[in-house]
Amino acid sequence: MGGFFGVVSRYDALSDVFFGTDYHSHLGTRRGGLAAYDGKGKGLQREIHNIENSPFRTKFENIFNEMKGNAVIGAISDSDPQPLLIRGGFGPYAIASVGLIQNEQELIDEYLLRFGGHFNAMTGGKVNSTELVASLINEKDNIADGIAFAQEKIKGTMSILILGGNGKLYAARDKLGRLPMIVGRNEDGFCVSFESFAYKKLGYEDYKELGPGEIVEISADRLKVLKEPGEEMRICAFLWSYYGYPNSNYEGVNVEQMRYKNGEIMARDDMERGIVQRLDAVCGVPDSGTPHAIGYSNESHLPFTRPFIKYTPTWPRSFMPANQSERNKVARMKQIPVPELIEGKSLLFVDDSIVRGTQLKETVDFLYDNGAKEVHMRSACPPIMYGCKYLNFSSSKNEMELLARRIIVELEGQAGLDYIAEYSDGKTERGKKLRSTICEKMNFDSLEFQSLEGVLEAIGIDPCKLCTYCWNGRE
Ligand code: SF4
Repeated sequence: MGGFFGVVSRYDALSDVFFGTDYHSHLGTRRGGLAAYDGKGKGLQREIHNIENSPFRTKFENIFNEMKGNAVIGAISDSDPQPLLIRGGFGPYAIASVGLIQNEQELIDEYLLRFGGHFNAMTGGKVNSTELVASLINEKDNIADGIAFAQEKIKGTMSILILGGNGKLYAARDKLGRLPMIVGRNEDGFCVSFESFAYKKLGYEDYKELGPGEIVEISADRLKVLKEPGEEMRICAFLWSYYGYPNSNYEGVNVEQMRYKNGEIMARDDMERGIVQRLDAVCGVPDSGTPHAIGYSNESHLPFTRPFIKYTPTWPRSFMPANQSERNKVARMKQIPVPELIEGKSLLFVDDSIVRGTQLKETVDFLYDNGAKEVHMRSACPPIMYGCKYLNFSSSKNEMELLARRIIVELEGQAGLDYIAEYSDGKTERGKKLRSTICEKMNFDSLEFQSLEGVLEAIGIDPCKLCTYCWNGRE
C-alpha cells in the first residue's frame, strides 16, 4: 500500500506536507519521500529516505534547511521509492502513485519494444511502478492527456499525484475509486490527501472528494476539473474494517463510527444466538480489533476490558525476523498480559479479520496459558476467500494461505471451492462446519464472522459502490 499528501499554496508549503505525509505513515513502512517546487530558484527538488527502522519525521527533520517551495508533495510507500523526478517531453515533474498494476509486465514489454528505451532497474531487476506510470504519461504531449492515457492503459488500481514543473498539482483518483483521494482547502491554497484527518489537523477544510477516475489541476487559487468522474465506483470496504485510519472519513462515513456500528451488529446477532449471557467481558485483539469490540460492548452491555496490552515503544516498526519461530516470539514479547483480567474469565475477542490465522493461534494459547476459562473469537468481517488483486495490499500471494480456503480444501478437496458462498454463510451446514473446524484447530470455544450484510449495513453506503471481492469474489 502507500499514501500521499500534497499542498499548493501562496506561502511555503513544506511544513504542512511534512506533517501531512507523516500522518500517512500507517499506510507504508519502507520508503518516504518529498518533492518541492521552488519557483524562485531551484525548480524541482526531491529527497527520499528508507523509513524501515525510523519514522518519516525523524528521517526528514532536517529537510527545512534543504528544501522549500509553495507546491510540495510527499509519499509514504510500502514498495517503490518515490516521488520520482521525471523529465518528459512537456517538461519536468515529480510523481507519486499508489495502487497495483495487474498488467505490469505487458506494459513494460510494450514500452521497451516500441521505444527501445529503458527503466532504472531496482534490486532484483524490478521496475519501479511509479516510473512505469510516468513512462505512459510521457507518451502524450501534456500532463492531463498523459494521466488519462495511463489510467486507460493500466489494468488494476492507480491513483496519481503529480507536482508539475509549473508549480501546479495534478491529482487523479484510480478509475474505480478503490482508494480515496480528497481535496482540502484553506485561505492560502489547497491540499490533496488520502486521509481526511491529515488535512483537518493542519487547518484545512473539506473541499471535494474526487470521484472515480477524476483528474484535477490545482493551483493556489483554483481547482480545475480536467476529466469528469466516472459513474461506476468500487471503493475498498476493507478501508473501514481494517486499514483506514480511525479519524478519517471516506465517502462521508467515519471509520471509527463504522467500527462501533459493526461491533453492535455482531453483538445483536450473538444476543440472538444466546452466547452473550455466558461471557464475562469483550475485548479487542489490539489494536484494530478494539473499536469493533467497543461497539460490541456498547450493544451487549458486556464490560469492555484489555486483558493484554501491546508493548511497542522499543520495537522497530517493521522488525520482522525471517524465521517463523522468531517472529512468533516477537509477537509474544509484545503482548503483556493483565492476569487479573484473564484468569478464570470467559472472554470474547474481536479481531478485525482472520486471514492466515497464525497470529491468532498464538494469541489464544497465550490467553489459556494465562488462565482464561473460555476464549470466543469474532472476526469483524466475513471469511476472506480471495486474495486482493486490486491493491498492493498485504494479503497472501497464494490464496491457499488464506485460512478459510485451506480449511475448505481440507474438508472436501478442490471441489469444495465451488461452495464458497455456502461456507461464508454461518447459517448453512457447510458454514457451520467451517467454523467448527477452525474452532477445533485454534482451540476457540466459539467462532463467528461478521456477515457480509452486517458489514454493508455498518458502512452504510450503496453496496454497488463497494469492493467486497476478497469476501465474495464479486468483481
Ligand atoms: S479485494 Fe478486498 S482488500 Fe482488495 S480492494 Fe477489494 S475489498 Fe479491498
